[in-house]
Amino acid sequence: MAIARVALPIPLPQVFDYVAADASPADVGRCVKVPFGRGERTGLIVALGDEAGVDPARLKAVQHIQRAVPALPADWLELVGFVARYYHAPLGEVVALALPPGLRRADGVSDEDEDPVLEIAPAGHAALAEARRASRSLTLLQTLAGGGGPWRRSVIRALEAGEAVGDLLKRGWLAVAAQVGDRHATGALPTLTVEQAAAVEAILGGGAGFNAWLLHGVTGSGKTEVYLRLAAHMLAQGRQVLMLVPEIALTPQLEQCVANRFAAANVVSLHSALADGARSRGFVQALSGRADIVLGTRLAVFAPLPRLGLILVDEEHDASYKQQEGVRYSARDLAVWRARQRAVPVVLGSATPALETWHHARNGRYALQTLGQRAVAATMPSVRCIDTRRLKLDEGLSPALQAAIAQRLERGEQSLVFLNRRGYAPVLSCPSCGWVSRCPHCSANLVVHLADRRLRCHHCGCDGPIPPACPSCGDQDIQPFGRGTQRIEARVAELFPQARVLRVDRDAARTRSQWEKLLETIAAGEADILVGTQMMAKGHDFPKLTLVGVIGADASLHAADFRAPERLFQQLMQVGGRAGRGALPGEVLIQTEYPMHPLYQHLARHDFDAFARMALQERRAAGFPPFTHQAMLRADAPALDDAVSFLRHARRLAETLAPAELRIFDPVPMRMTRLARRERAQLLIEADQRAPLQAFLADWVGVLYQQRTARELRWQLDVDPLEV
Ligand code: ADP
Ligand code: ZN
Ligand code: ZN
Repeated sequence: MAIARVALPIPLPQVFDYVAADASPADVGRCVKVPFGRGERTGLIVALGDEAGVDPARLKAVQHIQRAVPALPADWLELVGFVARYYHAPLGEVVALALPPGLRRADGVSDEDEDPVLEIAPAGHAALAEARRASRSLTLLQTLAGGGGPWRRSVIRALEAGEAVGDLLKRGWLAVAAQVGDRHATGALPTLTVEQAAAVEAILGGGAGFNAWLLHGVTGSGKTEVYLRLAAHMLAQGRQVLMLVPEIALTPQLEQCVANRFAAANVVSLHSALADGARSRGFVQALSGRADIVLGTRLAVFAPLPRLGLILVDEEHDASYKQQEGVRYSARDLAVWRARQRAVPVVLGSATPALETWHHARNGRYALQTLGQRAVAATMPSVRCIDTRRLKLDEGLSPALQAAIAQRLERGEQSLVFLNRRGYAPVLSCPSCGWVSRCPHCSANLVVHLADRRLRCHHCGCDGPIPPACPSCGDQDIQPFGRGTQRIEARVAELFPQARVLRVDRDAARTRSQWEKLLETIAAGEADILVGTQMMAKGHDFPKLTLVGVIGADASLHAADFRAPERLFQQLMQVGGRAGRGALPGEVLIQTEYPMHPLYQHLARHDFDAFARMALQERRAAGFPPFTHQAMLRADAPALDDAVSFLRHARRLAETLAPAELRIFDPVPMRMTRLARRERAQLLIEADQRAPLQAFLADWVGVLYQQRTARELRWQLDVDPLEV
């Protein structure tokens, strides 16, 4: 009789044994329903054992093995096993994270064997021309009409309103494409620039085995075209391509671009915003080998890909590749691990690589390919600092910036005022008694949102009306203090009444369709002045945007987080890269009180290399990553004392286990101590080498699981933390 070792999503490090009378080795890697406690759970069979050592009479039996879906392959089990080991997380929790929820629930998932290539039929074109009453079906049809085609059914399904695809087929608006063109690439391809061609040649020349490449290309250098050529090559070899992007909501253009280029290939999107069904379907298509390209956010790194030939990681420096809760994995690092495991090349692309990645490229662990020139616009934007120390600013806007905006308006070009703070003002305060709008649940201020007259916490979501008077002393003259995008938007609209002003931040683009609408408005030239946050920094082309004014950036120069300058440089380089992408030259104006700061100086020269050299020197001197390796134990509880005393206890345990070369710091409250009614503290461990740190963490975590903790205390380990 077989014993199934089952990984269950339970915060305990072990796997659980069940009797599985009819299980065979083919069931390893399959989802199962099992009784657990008084209820039932679904988990994954990670191994089969025999009776030896266990009394089967004491074991419960597996209830159901889901055999409708192919079993997850050995290399996938190895991947989740590695994640569990490296991040010291329970295997069952890793599995739960890596598998789409629908699949985990083990309800029948079809992988939709019928995935025909569709195009708009004559009846569809007629319906578009008539444009009758708006409906979901019509909306979907209009979306499709806007973007090339033909498309696989699954690709359409993944679009907004994609469920209507069935209806479109029923109405005869869509039909199976009469002719499916070249499965691998369609449309006229641009001639590669010399640098692009060299990069493609080098990467393909590196062979089919493992190679890690850093594709360092300035903004607008055409990294995407390089990815597409590499992907085309792999598809032609019958291989699958995994392409990771930071945030799919921000990259509809890329998705469209890939879908258009490989119109008849099976391009599958995987991200957390998908409905369960669509996500399961995409995952199963990847697993069964029917997906040719998997395009997705960090969780797509867990897609099983039997024919994998290449992994691409776009904007590899982006912080969203690191999961910030639960199992805190880095999808970029896992992408490199997977590429090595599967012996395929991996390409990390960025204009501003993470310093860790840059360090690897410098010391030869990664091979470097550079695109130093823009693919279309001949020049990089000019970057200049505006010294604001002796200037009188109008709501934060300097005369020089205003003049530059006015000039763009005259020429019919677009400007962007970049400010990484949404809302109207970061706090509301009372001049009489000093009251400030604190969040009741966090150590943070409530942000004034004047557009809908609310006070909102950007950390916990706490939300209430703006009080008519000071809640503490009754003074009616309470004032918003400081500036956010809404306030700049309002002032810009006053200063330039003739201009069409558009705010682009997370409040203006709550949904993907709102975001796409904003992008369309900008691209169509229906806005003159944009006021935007980092949402504007991600890879989009706005040919008429020729001016970027940066305000409020100085705060990051002096932030406590040692990664703040790196992030600032990346952000400014990215947002500056939006300027002058078309035929018109671009200009970036940075308002600052530190015009001579080396960070701004390197930025003005577009010299990432010099910035990275400086930043890496600082890190080496201070003993920060990539020169050391870190792990952070965090604890949170309703009372700070509980969190801190748990960490003190953990520290004492660590001292008995840790080799001398490890540095164990004292527990400290986190910078933002209180979040959503919980008090948070952390304990940093550092080592010069990864191996002893990892060995120690395994022992330590094992012991930590056995500790009794205060009620409501939670702890998590963060390996390679991004925020310390
Ligand atoms: P990056 O991602 O490196 O910032 P993109 O991939 O967005 O740059 O490319 C910038 C622009 O240049 C895009 O509009 C793209 O279509 C165009 N482009 C890229 N390569 C070529 C090429 N070889 N010939 C013409 N246009 C190109
Ligand atoms: Zn008051
Ligand atoms: Zn809050």
